[in-house]
Amino acid sequence: MDEVSDRDIVAAVRAFVERDVIPHASALEHRDEYPHAMVATIRELGLFGATIPTEFGGLGLSYLTYARIMEELSRGWMSLAGVINSHLIMAYVIAHHGTDAQRNYFLPAMARGEKRGGLALTEPHAGSDVQSIRTTATRRGDEYVLSGAKMFITNARNGTMLAVAAKTNPRAEPAYAGISMFAVEKSERGPTVSRNLDKLGYKGIDTCELAFDDYKVSMDCLVGGVEGRGLQQILNGLELGRINVAARGVGVADAALKEAVAYSQVRKTFGKPICEHQAIQLKLGDMATRLEAARLLTYRAAEAYDRGERCDMEAGMAKLFATEAAMENSLEAMRIHGAYGYSTEFNIERLYRDAPLLIIGEGTNEMQRIIIAKQLIERNRV
Ligand SMILES: Cc1cc2nc3c(=O)[nH]c(=O)nc-3n(C[C@H](O)[C@H](O)[C@H](O)COP(=O)(O)OP(=O)(O)OC[C@H]3O[C@@H](n4cnc5c(N)ncnc54)[C@H](O)[C@@H]3O)c2cc1C
Repeated sequence: MDEVSDRDIVAAVRAFVERDVIPHASALEHRDEYPHAMVATIRELGLFGATIPTEFGGLGLSYLTYARIMEELSRGWMSLAGVINSHLIMAYVIAHHGTDAQRNYFLPAMARGEKRGGLALTEPHAGSDVQSIRTTATRRGDEYVLSGAKMFITNARNGTMLAVAAKTNPRAEPAYAGISMFAVEKSERGPTVSRNLDKLGYKGIDTCELAFDDYKVSMDCLVGGVEGRGLQQILNGLELGRINVAARGVGVADAALKEAVAYSQVRKTFGKPICEHQAIQLKLGDMATRLEAARLLTYRAAEAYDRGERCDMEAGMAKLFATEAAMENSLEAMRIHGAYGYSTEFNIERLYRDAPLLIIGEGTNEMQRIIIAKQLIERNRV
């Protein structure tokens, strides 16, 4: 896709967000209601295939354009970015590590949004420490039997399939060598969606607990047809997830700034609009600078990813900085709005509740700092 059509699609998403998302997001969010109509438009825009190669019917967009689209969606409502994120991570894993048969079977339907994916790594006892997952996949004839539980899985109810990490060799040393990835379609046999989890923010979108109760899948579901490669297969995909989450941070930080800039011009205290008080100007100046720095880091990581470079450090920095920017800007916007910022009649409280997911999901910000430091040392060996 050329630069003009990349621009066109970002403009189309921006128009959709202004027209259909911003006016309705708060009401849906407060009811914790899945945004079916918005997701249908996202599908019409082709975004379920945003980064899926054109040969499989996707838009084949650059990751930079993808980041800009996620920023626009999150400016309207962060949950919408979650509908796409793990779907496209799963597509990435299949595109880069799947067999030809898996690519041809899954990707065209995923690009059309007919098959909708998610990513099932986290378990009740293990998030950051993926290697300690306990879900097993035991080979029986030409099938695998999956047993275990997954926790906090986005798109688990409304999606139709999942990339599931499971241990094909629970005794492997090192542990990651025993982890495999399975592309699992949901059916009436399972996996069982045990419950939807109530959350502080990031509402509307489904985040669920899942049970694999001796769930049998064909051996064709093993990604790439090889056991023990699951962790390597997912690592690049998680970099894409970090770019997505960084872009969400930019979107939330931007929305908070825009609301604050507008409100500070109409709210008056002591005879003048509050934007004329220096204390407010200092906040706005910091918020705008933070936003711009977050955006630049995010675009830089996306461009490195587009060039196919190793970019765990760049994606980690973008994810860390942009998500902390979302936290800080949403809090500063609340201070600027005073009591109205705390009221559910304004968008600020939603931004303030949405932002914390970003510092936890796709690798916590503590883990990002560790990844950055390790890469720093790796790239500067003495
Ligand atoms: C709304 C929501 C949606 C999610 N969606 C998905 C999904 O679709 N699929 C999926 O697989 N998962 C999903 N997750 C799970 C998410 O990826 C994990 O929550 C995240 O990886 C952190 O794991 P944890 O919560 O188990 O925290 P833990 O790993 O238990 O960490 C607890 C704390 O210890 C810190 N910590 C851990 N290890 C270290 C260390 N070595 N050094 C320093 N500090 C450390 C962490 O930073 C954190 O502060 C979702 C979570 C949420 C809240």
